[in-house]
Amino acid sequence: MVLAATDEFQNISELFGIDSPLERCLDGYAPRAGQADMAVAVAAAIEDCAELVVEAGTGTGKTLAYLVPALLSGKRVVLSTGTKTLQDQLFYRDLPAVTSALGRPATVVQLKGRSNYLCLHRLQAAREQLQPQDKLHAVELQVLARWSLATRTGDRVEVEEIPEDAAVWPRVTSTLENCLGNQCEFYDRCYVVSARQAALSADIVVVNHHLLLADLALKEEGFGELLPGCEAVVIDEAHQFPDIAQDFFNVSLGSRSLLDLAADIRAEALAAFPADQEVGPFVDRLVKAVKDLRLNLPADASNILWDEMNAASFRQLDNVVACLDDLIGWHECIDESMSGLKRCRERACACIESIEQISRADESAGLRWTGLTRAGFTLNYTPVEFSASLHNLLAAQSCAWVFTSATLAVGGDFSHFLMRMGLPDAITLEIVSPFDFATSGLLYLPDKLPEPASANYTELVMQQLLPLVAASDGRAFLLFTSHRALREAAQIMRGREDCDYPLLVQGEAPRSKLLEQFAELDKPVLLGTSSFWEGVDMRGDRLVLVAIDKLPFASPGDPMLKARLAAISEQGGQPFKDYQLPQAVLALKQGVGRLIRDETDHGVVVVCDPRLTSRNYGRHFLDSLPPFPVTRDSLDAENFLRDGGRS
Ligand code: SF4
Repeated sequence: MVLAATDEFQNISELFGIDSPLERCLDGYAPRAGQADMAVAVAAAIEDCAELVVEAGTGTGKTLAYLVPALLSGKRVVLSTGTKTLQDQLFYRDLPAVTSALGRPATVVQLKGRSNYLCLHRLQAAREQLQPQDKLHAVELQVLARWSLATRTGDRVEVEEIPEDAAVWPRVTSTLENCLGNQCEFYDRCYVVSARQAALSADIVVVNHHLLLADLALKEEGFGELLPGCEAVVIDEAHQFPDIAQDFFNVSLGSRSLLDLAADIRAEALAAFPADQEVGPFVDRLVKAVKDLRLNLPADASNILWDEMNAASFRQLDNVVACLDDLIGWHECIDESMSGLKRCRERACACIESIEQISRADESAGLRWTGLTRAGFTLNYTPVEFSASLHNLLAAQSCAWVFTSATLAVGGDFSHFLMRMGLPDAITLEIVSPFDFATSGLLYLPDKLPEPASANYTELVMQQLLPLVAASDGRAFLLFTSHRALREAAQIMRGREDCDYPLLVQGEAPRSKLLEQFAELDKPVLLGTSSFWEGVDMRGDRLVLVAIDKLPFASPGDPMLKARLAAISEQGGQPFKDYQLPQAVLALKQGVGRLIRDETDHGVVVVCDPRLTSRNYGRHFLDSLPPFPVTRDSLDAENFLRDGGRS
């Protein structure tokens, strides 16, 4: 049975039934009522150009529930994901399988950000500027030059010999700032341009949220042509979308951009005037001014407010502007045909404009702050409220918008997500997970722990957890809300002779490496903070215990949070109820969601924080979690783990 785009939505529901093409063609396919309901709603939204928000509980099979109506609609659809893992899964696995099952061939293109594609102009420049002592780059540039003659896509994933984080990549890939556009001598062969052209003629384009937002806001790597021709946008992992969207309304300028500009001016000038090094001292002064500014900022803070910068920092910032002005002045002598130097002049002007924008920004509507690393800084202006701007961007596109994730609602209420997205009138749908949580898991709430602010809280938490880790034979995620607690917990476990589990501690190896080891080792215990609360899909009995130390309220010391809460108060809202609580509930839902990933999974979730039962707001958390049976008795939890979920 192959459906036509005009068939009734009812037929889409039938397509998800027994003896359908999906069941016949897809490995492991089993009809699920929630999946069919979601597919019908997505089909209707695409047909009506509507805004739809779907929370699809784990196991709904939401990917199929949007891919099938998207393909059957015959419309041009953009699919956006938060993670590369899901992007690859859609492109390499799900879309080929579903198009083949439906008998609906479609042109599908995966479009990546420009830093994924080789820039032929920058490769040539890097080879010309290579210093004799730079032996590693010489070898890498040779590999890249050879590959550039053979590759069709210019996609750097094809180059296995050079690690993903190698320092050579920024030298041979482009940014919006340094791309020469149609002034470039390689424009006709440019991989970024051809990837975008392929996307424009595709039926389905798979992108990530950053690229979609850039396109929407016409910023950074966006090229503003992807969305106008598209008739539906499906955003999976939509819980990440508001935070990523906020970045696109941020005005910022970092020391990295300034130093890159200095390096590019030096290189372009060397290529244009090999015998004349007149620009050298101007570039040196800019580099020194940027470094001096960093030296005047605090050495040990991760961020400071604009008003906390000292007078010397502001003088140094003026000096950076003066150096940029001098460089713009020097550029007056260049010929219009020198496209590389012309682009550098435009970038210098844009840097000054950003500094002026941040310096003069309206403090009542946003926050001016400086992010700090050991050697660098980023000047920022972040608007506190961005939902109206986001709403305007979404409304400007005449297409359907479908947002989906396993965590969008708080106790069935979508208003927090809708408010952040500026989508007050979107249709909402909650699809409950088909898993049998009543038998597959247990929620253990220890009843003897003190308030989380107590001095020895982590030590007492670990006393509660260690017998459970023994009962589960490792195979545990211990998730913390702070790095301090994580370090203390690791120290406690390492100090005990009876803890002979392979300990995987965040920060001691890259996240992907830790997850790989967790999947391979015997009895592993992983200790992590926020980055392990989501996007981890550990199925089967590799993971049977998930423990969470505290309710994940955002740090009250975060200046951005303070500014946002003040803005909510000013508008007559209730900061805790309207923002802090729903944010924490959604984060806890994500963390707890790591445990049961499949129908046959089982295990115990422990939430140690006593506020879950002692405070009135605790019920908002409990109402949002999967309906596990609850116990206050650690023996129940230990027995459940020892019996493999059969107690
Ligand atoms: S057009 Fe831009 S990205 Fe393409 S080769 Fe030229 S500089 Fe590089």
